[in-house]
Amino acid sequence: PCIVGAGDLVVDHGKGEVRVNGKTFAEGDELSIDGTAGQVIAGKLKPQESEVLQVLLQGGEGSPAAMALVRILGWADEHRRLRVRANADTPEDARHARAFGAQGIGLCRTEHMFFAEDRISQVRQMILADDAEGRKGPLAKLLPEQRGDFEGIFEAMDGLPVTVRLLDPPLHEFLPSGERALAALAEEMGVDKATVEERASALEEQNPMLGHRGCRLGITAPDIYDMQVEAIARAAAARKKAGGDPRPEIMIPLAGTEAEVARLKERVAETVASVYADEGVEVDTLIGTMIEIPRAALTADRIAPHADFFSFGTNDLTQMTFGFSRDDVGSFLPYYVENGFLPADPFASIDVDGVGSLVRTACEKGRAAKPGLHLGVCGEHGGDAASIGFFDEVGLDYVSCSPYRVPVARLAAARAALQHGVKEMDTV
Ligand code: PEP
Ligand code: MG
Repeated sequence: PCIVGAGDLVVDHGKGEVRVNGKTFAEGDELSIDGTAGQVIAGKLKPQESEVLQVLLQGGEGSPAAMALVRILGWADEHRRLRVRANADTPEDARHARAFGAQGIGLCRTEHMFFAEDRISQVRQMILADDAEGRKGPLAKLLPEQRGDFEGIFEAMDGLPVTVRLLDPPLHEFLPSGERALAALAEEMGVDKATVEERASALEEQNPMLGHRGCRLGITAPDIYDMQVEAIARAAAARKKAGGDPRPEIMIPLAGTEAEVARLKERVAETVASVYADEGVEVDTLIGTMIEIPRAALTADRIAPHADFFSFGTNDLTQMTFGFSRDDVGSFLPYYVENGFLPADPFASIDVDGVGSLVRTACEKGRAAKPGLHLGVCGEHGGDAASIGFFDEVGLDYVSCSPYRVPVARLAAARAALQHGVKEMDTV
């Protein structure tokens, strides 16, 4: 669990303290957090898994209430049209998601794999390198690690689609911040401090969310995506040779133009084909793009011919449609909602009139250019009941959300299908 946007907390990095409501907590003090209620509680509480989770994860019998929920979810599945996938980055999350009824992974964020303790040093060496030649060594070391991750995820999701997104965040996010941390990094890397500082400052951006990230990295440093694509394809080939049924989908993030998608799709397809030729197996591999920049939504008919699927990244799409920084809205958004400037937090529940209009346009234009284009959503809205009603109405094929929201999404998808069915009957 995690609580974000807790604006009342004053975090004093210098003193290693957190102050809130007249109380001070020092580094090492124990706190408990309730991710469902959004509460931070002083002291250590003993956590307990809910009965429903136990039944869904382990199967078998539970209390009448838990069994009733399992039954209702079964009924929901008989009625819903939308498929429900999960956002998961590890084999363990993938297994949980599957137990909750996920029908695949709609978003595997590969950057989380880069932050692993035993890898971050290779990632940083790659970032500190001047050019592709310098990145070769660290990328070669990361390749088997990423391949192992993907094999585990394909195994956990055997027979179901797994959408892997290529690297998305700006490279600067992988470097530590602060002079002391940079000095320590220089020592660890065996380079002088000035070199590390220079590189870190060259990577710094005023608006990183609108900066050198997503497929812009893939265009300017294609070797990074090449490594990731090779890792995905080799993992899929290994699973297939082991008798599995891997269903990889490779996703290009943050595209805004047809040229970006066309170029990257071509390069990804080449790498995939050469890996399968080398491995002596073929695995059906889809290559698609996220639609999370308004321009991409408005020009979806130009992009669709180069993509096997679209997945709406409604977090970034909301950010860019409203011009609200995802990282900074906490200072005014609650006021906006409380005082009627917005009906709800648009990062939680889709803004049907604005952001939704772009989603609808992209669906219509995309499918006009490529009938049968596969459509999904993997932003936070994919697990929000009200938004799921809208996604059903515009004809998406699936929603993807955090594993723990999958049961709610299954119910919401069924409710949407029933409500839309009733509306159609009324019209008749
Ligand atoms: C999105 O933008 O909706 C998305 C899923 O990507 P991320 O949240 O990682 O930017
Ligand atoms: Mg995004």
